[in-house]
Amino acid sequence: MGNDADDTKTTFGGESLAAQAMGSIDPVTKAVVQPIHLSTTFIRDPDNAYRSGFAYGRADNATVRELEAVLQMLEHGAAALAFGSGMSAAVAVFTSLPRGAKVLAPNVMYWALKNWLSNEAKATLGLDVRFIEMQDVDAVRAAAVPGCDFIWIETPSNPLWGVVDIAAVAEIAHAAGARLAVDSTCATPVLTQPLLLGADLVMHSASKYINGHSDVVAGVLVTRELDASWQRIEKIRASHGMLLGPFEAFLVMRGLRTMHLRVRAACANALGLANALRQHPLVTEVLYPGLPDHAQHGLAVRQMKGGFGGMLSIRVRGGEASAIATAARVGLWKRATSLGGVESLLEHRASVEGQGSPCPPDLLRLSCGIELSEDLFADLDAALHDAAAQTS
Ligand SMILES: *Cc1c(COP(=O)(O)O)cnc(C)c1O
Repeated sequence: MGNDADDTKTTFGGESLAAQAMGSIDPVTKAVVQPIHLSTTFIRDPDNAYRSGFAYGRADNATVRELEAVLQMLEHGAAALAFGSGMSAAVAVFTSLPRGAKVLAPNVMYWALKNWLSNEAKATLGLDVRFIEMQDVDAVRAAAVPGCDFIWIETPSNPLWGVVDIAAVAEIAHAAGARLAVDSTCATPVLTQPLLLGADLVMHSASKYINGHSDVVAGVLVTRELDASWQRIEKIRASHGMLLGPFEAFLVMRGLRTMHLRVRAACANALGLANALRQHPLVTEVLYPGLPDHAQHGLAVRQMKGGFGGMLSIRVRGGEASAIATAARVGLWKRATSLGGVESLLEHRASVEGQGSPCPPDLLRLSCGIELSEDLFADLDAALHDAAAQTS
């Protein structure tokens, strides 16, 4: 990109776009880092028009638009919208569907959203949501009969890390007359671009890898086409007050500049740990798409470019008590929910999800950060041995 014109930027790779958070250069100051626009209101032209495109801060914000421009390019979409959280981005999508819409969703997916779909989406929006096994393409084909309106998938999916075939499900969805949305939070824009595989919408919790520093809650949607349903989502964001704040948008752009480096480091740590832990005497199973014996490893190799993600789960020998005792004994790993930050986090997931969760009670979910892999292994290894000594 030249230092003024930005019409060539879509030809740059994701690394280049993200490193410069390449929205546009402020023509007045030529600042390399975008300013934070805080104004909630904008002056009307004397002839009563709003030529700047901005009128009031609930609908839109210039700093948020900068972030959206980068995310739209990274995901190869037609437009992006940033939201106050990943949940609000997802809820905006479902709110845009007509009453009675038939929706297919995965039976293993981000728990807070599954809860909302199970308990709220029917009661408040009148959606008809069915949960199915999304890794099984035949099961999706059988469920996606004509009349199905919308399919939501998540890949790799929380917290068992199954991989869903985006291209295959997109084809099935479109044949049935349905649209496909992908929660790509854990794949990140670095490893997978769902819109290029045929998805209609991609959603991210930018609280995770996109921001990457565990200090902003934010969400993103990117669309393949500027269609009527996208316009509905835009209206819903404005009227429901779901827009991301300008300071948060600035922080997410700052995080985004190092996303490729962080994600690659997290992937390398996760793969190293997965390989070390699968031979560990106190670990009965390692769930990670990068392992050759993972049920969808071949698909993961095709669909995820440059890594298998920073997330994995382990099942601890001795059951739930041993898993919780292990979590109690880590030092470098932080015992906390969430994922995708530079610091490694570990969580006993069944305690979070509670009743009805498909998560086994002996499972610990690991979000690999960018620390030294030897330190991460040594800390977890010591915790596993301490816990085993204590609980046996
Ligand atoms: C965190 C997360 C969400 C929800 O995003 P928030 O920013 O916490 O609202 C949705 N999907 C996945 C996969 C997530 O990890």
